[in-house]
Amino acid sequence: MQHIDEQYIVNNFESALDKGYVKAYYQPVIRTLTERICSVEALARWQDPVVGLLSPFLFINVLEKYHLIHKLDLAILDNICVTYNEMRNRGLPLHPFSINLSRLDFDEIDMLDAISKTLAKYDVPSTAIHIEITESVMLDNTAYFRRIFDSFHDAGFAIFMDDFGSGYSSLNVLKDYSFDVLKIDMRFLSDIGIRSKKILASVMNMAKAIGMHTLAEGVETKEQMTFLRNIGCEMLQGFYYSKPMDGDLYIKYLSESKLGVEDPAENHYWNAVGQINFLSPDPLNDLTNEQIESGDYGFIRENSTALALIEQRGEQVELLYKNEAYENGLQRIGFSSVDELIKTINEMDRGYYPDMIEQVDFSIKTGELVKEDHLINGVYFTYYTKCIAETDGKAMLAASIQTYGGDVDKSTNDLFEKYSRMLIDTYDHISVMDPAKNTVITRLYSKFGFSEEYTQLPLDEAIRRFAENEVAECDRERFLQFMEPSTIRERMNKTNHRYFQLPFQYRTQNGEYKMMDTKVIKVFMGPSDIYIFSIEAMSEQVYKAAELLLNAHPELFDFT
Ligand code: C2E
Ligand code: MG
Ligand code: MG
Repeated sequence: MQHIDEQYIVNNFESALDKGYVKAYYQPVIRTLTERICSVEALARWQDPVVGLLSPFLFINVLEKYHLIHKLDLAILDNICVTYNEMRNRGLPLHPFSINLSRLDFDEIDMLDAISKTLAKYDVPSTAIHIEITESVMLDNTAYFRRIFDSFHDAGFAIFMDDFGSGYSSLNVLKDYSFDVLKIDMRFLSDIGIRSKKILASVMNMAKAIGMHTLAEGVETKEQMTFLRNIGCEMLQGFYYSKPMDGDLYIKYLSESKLGVEDPAENHYWNAVGQINFLSPDPLNDLTNEQIESGDYGFIRENSTALALIEQRGEQVELLYKNEAYENGLQRIGFSSVDELIKTINEMDRGYYPDMIEQVDFSIKTGELVKEDHLINGVYFTYYTKCIAETDGKAMLAASIQTYGGDVDKSTNDLFEKYSRMLIDTYDHISVMDPAKNTVITRLYSKFGFSEEYTQLPLDEAIRRFAENEVAECDRERFLQFMEPSTIRERMNKTNHRYFQLPFQYRTQNGEYKMMDTKVIKVFMGPSDIYIFSIEAMSEQVYKAAELLLNAHPELFDFT
């Protein structure tokens, strides 16, 4: 390290300020989920014509000792305001700026007043400034600093705890002050081995539990970035993305960077998204402060560790986060990956997976945790969705999945099998059709003992023969219209359901005719529609009601 005489700094500081040798460098802060620039930290640099570039480590302590530090900090704020206005003039998105303050600033002058005056002079709002303070400054005189904090908060400034973990009383500081953001310096961890990872994960967990946002600085490698992303760290800063740059370079960087800048109007949206704790055993059901205060932890937590964050923009969706459990869940229901599902949703018309779409729409409408059972590709699963944030034209959905088979214990699985079979037993006949290919795929089940021949024929032919042989003559015409394969898709799309349903009279094994409930149900297995044709007995009362209705109002039974 350079050796610079303390006296050199004290003697030259004020003239260096006047001549503009001391100025702000800017290092961008990146939103982890989107990799967009969401704010920037201003860091002091002293470019001295005699001794060269001076790092803050060389002059901050000296300035503090000689009661000059507030002059530096206000000069940096002045720099920020100039850059802010330059950005405004160029029509660049106006993200917030972080400024570092020293505890001694507050001893020297009324810092809030001084900062507010500078901002007023340049017409910069207080919400554009984040205050960074290191934890050690607040160890003593808690009541005094709390008052200062409150006054900054009231004036609209966000407060970041800088260098969390470097001091020795962090937990007390966290308890006593309400910081908006916890800033964790990766450099305090000597390596990123398993212990460091566990510590970081626990810190993330804790920050979310007490409602603080999370930022990791000193991020230098892709490995660090990936790990921080997986544990839900909301923001990243460090050489991995960019070194600090002077004002001109930063403006250039902003206009040219492929990263892009976050729309400041979306700040609330991303803050809400950031509250989701990726590490929680039950992220969609985490207790709110109100619940904890009211002692309401009585509800049963389900083991829904799978988690994905999916952004909905009209009919398009984008995956912003998924963990392994979610990926595994989707593979179990037949997708090769989450990315494949997202691609399918974006490419297909909204007619596919209508139950899922309904669930998502309902989540967005209510903001509640919605839990529904579904069947895709023959696998039953429970899907959990919760809309966690909304802004102009988009909504962020947290989703979780639990499949039955594989990840549940064997006895649950066996029970499920057993009762599914019993359910099938409530039907009298089930077969599966593919109208686009004009085939009967299979006859799953039939109590009627209908001839196997239908499955050998083309679908249209099979339906015609079936109507002739098995449907009462008075119902035949109606049945043929109901079943017409060439118009099934179009007629189905006109209804708001996934099925048609009407009663028809079928020939039973003893030669009599019996009125039975009949459904054609659309099942979704990708781009080709598959339909189930089912016949089910009706109870005596429903049967009588249907007969009376059929005679009195035949028009209600028209399904063309
Ligand atoms: P800080 O606020 O924690 O700032 C982060 C420091 O980490 C900066 O050092 C930055 O250049 C450096 N850094 C950023 N990314 C990386 C990375 O990926 N790897 C490594 N190895 N380092 C990285 P800098 O600018 O030397 O500042 C040092 C400290 O001096 C700051 O720590 C802050 O506490 C203080 N400081 C800087 N500017 C000011 C200021 O204007 N006023 C006050 N009061 N203190 C300041
Ligand atoms: Mg800082
Ligand atoms: Mg720091």
